[in-house]
Amino acid sequence: MKQLTADEQGWVREVSDKKRIVLIGAGYGGILTAKKLERKLRKRSDVELTIIDKRPYHTMLTELHEVAANRVPEDAIRIDLKKVFAHRNINVVMDEVQNVDFDGKKVISEKHTYDYDYLVLGTGSKPTFYGVEGAKEHTFKLWSYDDAVLLKEQILKMFRLASMERNHYERTKMLTFVVVGCGFTGVEMVGELGEYKDELCRDFNIPKEDVKIYVADALPSVLPNYPVKLIKKAEKRLHKLGVEILTSMSVTEVTEHSVCLNGERSIETNTVIWAAGVEGSDLMETVEIDKKARNRVETNDKLQALDHDNVYVVGDNAYYIPKGHERPIPQMVENAEHSASTVAHNILAELSGNDLKSYTPTFHGSMCCIGGKYGVAEVGTPKRMFAMSGFFAMFVKHLINVVYFIQVAGFNKVWTYAMHEIFHIRERRSLLGGHFAKASPNFWLLPLRLFLGYKWLDQGLHKLPGVIADPSKIFLIPAKATATSVTSSGGQVAGAVVDATSAATTAAADTVVEVAVDVTSSASQAVEATAGAAQAAGEVVEAASQWGQALPVPEFIADIVNWSMDLMFYTPEGGFTVMAEIFQAAMVIGEVIVGLCLLAGLFTALASLASIVMGLMIWSSGMAPVEMLWYLAGGVATIGGSGSVFGMDYYVLPVLKKYWKNIKFVKKYYLYTD
Ligand SMILES: Cc1cc2nc3c(=O)[nH]c(=O)nc-3n(C[C@H](O)[C@H](O)[C@H](O)COP(=O)(O)OP(=O)(O)OC[C@H]3O[C@@H](n4cnc5c(N)ncnc54)[C@H](O)[C@@H]3O)c2cc1C
Repeated sequence: MKQLTADEQGWVREVSDKKRIVLIGAGYGGILTAKKLERKLRKRSDVELTIIDKRPYHTMLTELHEVAANRVPEDAIRIDLKKVFAHRNINVVMDEVQNVDFDGKKVISEKHTYDYDYLVLGTGSKPTFYGVEGAKEHTFKLWSYDDAVLLKEQILKMFRLASMERNHYERTKMLTFVVVGCGFTGVEMVGELGEYKDELCRDFNIPKEDVKIYVADALPSVLPNYPVKLIKKAEKRLHKLGVEILTSMSVTEVTEHSVCLNGERSIETNTVIWAAGVEGSDLMETVEIDKKARNRVETNDKLQALDHDNVYVVGDNAYYIPKGHERPIPQMVENAEHSASTVAHNILAELSGNDLKSYTPTFHGSMCCIGGKYGVAEVGTPKRMFAMSGFFAMFVKHLINVVYFIQVAGFNKVWTYAMHEIFHIRERRSLLGGHFAKASPNFWLLPLRLFLGYKWLDQGLHKLPGVIADPSKIFLIPAKATATSVTSSGGQVAGAVVDATSAATTAAADTVVEVAVDVTSSASQAVEATAGAAQAAGEVVEAASQWGQALPVPEFIADIVNWSMDLMFYTPEGGFTVMAEIFQAAMVIGEVIVGLCLLAGLFTALASLASIVMGLMIWSSGMAPVEMLWYLAGGVATIGGSGSVFGMDYYVLPVLKKYWKNIKFVKKYYLYTD
């Protein structure tokens, strides 16, 4: 039975002897800390884990500009927290924390209090305005999902209104955009906007020259932490995208329709985007705890708040200067990820009475994309950094995102990320352009799917009677290479008796007919040598006549295949094993099933994959004719959804998907697509 008590404020609470760990904020730091803790504490009934966030989803802040400039859909940058923590032993609470009573060990929101023994603060940052007049009121921010959506709507609205506006002055304000801040966020945003404007100009019939995009900063260059070489590249790219760079220009005032630079130059605009700096979240402003530089909580090397050692700080909220450094750890994702490991480790160590470890941040670089196709990056180790740009920089950025997504939501998130960034990308705005992003209608594939299905079925039905009549008569597997001895006596072409591949590739074996004829004649010699070789000859004749001229197989693949066949299919005497019979029967039945599935459009992706696998197996065995290339290419073409056109997949897959997604381990390990 639960025991209840009322606290000083009158809140009724459950009395518990469990150790309670409460995490505030499911951002980069909070989510990883929670997952690491949960993994270790899953089976401990004496510990209770709770994560609280004011939003029901985790936001990928590093991708906000992609939504703001319509590169990816809105849902691409959120992950539902219920999904992240599905079937995990943790309470996921949506609530906005208002304050923390550190002495009473209570987290306080408007309607609830949450007791804790250990607290993790991970509430991230918000924009800071350095006291610039009008900046807070009249700028668009880029620090949350809502900010990105709002900004996207504003950009679209401005183009829509401008296309109908006759007043030149009003139209100019609508088509002028100013991004404040030349750091990563500002450059990523302005680059993305430069790319997006081309599409908008086309859609709204607005000449590109009418659109003005500025990026302004008090600093003397864009991306000032980068080497000059990369800065130059970034500037060049921005110019190419039509962005005017205004460096050494401080924003001194922002009004509803203008931004003032250095107190003298004014730019008339309806859209100022603020990307100029950050400070601790609203909660960091409220809580009474030792803070430093713009509301970050000062910590020791164990990432414990200085005056409360049961309070840990993760990610942007932490202010800690590592030994030998002059500056605090940077407010970046890598730091959030690394600090999560330390915090999780130390809480676990406290629970089990072990030693706490110190936080030793490592820095492996940063990447900045300028639109969807180009980026600059500096990656490596603290001792040696490598500058890169263009495709490679973008590739690294995607790779790092994928590594993060694997930790947060596994296959499911990696899949949707690939879909959003590559396969469903619009306007060629990906590192691979639009090469993999063709949204062509599936119905063009219908004839190919039916043809492929018919061919497999035809093959299968042709062989099936033979398998049924005598399963021990092997005709899909070449005879054992013991007859090589026969080859040497029977001449070059006779080698085909034992190996259709070599036969097909031998200069003398111009056509399969020749091969078959030569094989037959050679086989007569082989008969004299061994009875097994004669049998092989007959079999290859059959196989060769069935498939036509064999495709060549690289030697190393032939070696692997021969080795595995030796292992499984041949007896020491050179005959065939039971495995060979089973394999042959399975192949023939497989051909029939694949054919039927493709014709019916049922499980088409699997049937297409099977078509490829079977094709590869036949090819690697050295018995594939040129025709087999059709089966392979056809299989590749029909993988992606061809069964949804006049096929049973259209009806069956949605039902199966629904059931699949509800299976416990599928949910827990993210083994589904949305
Ligand atoms: C546009 C943009 C681009 C960026 N690009 C990069 C980049 O390319 N590389 C890089 O390394 N870094 C980048 N950053 C910085 C990076 O996103 C942050 O360093 C990182 O998000 C910090 O993680 P965190 O866990 O500390 O906080 P966050 O990820 O910000 O998470 C904080 C969480 O706390 C929740 N929260 C806040 N207050 C409360 C409350 N009172 N109650 C309950 N929940 C609350 C929020 O909803 C949020 O989920 C970028 C940031 C932005 C905004």
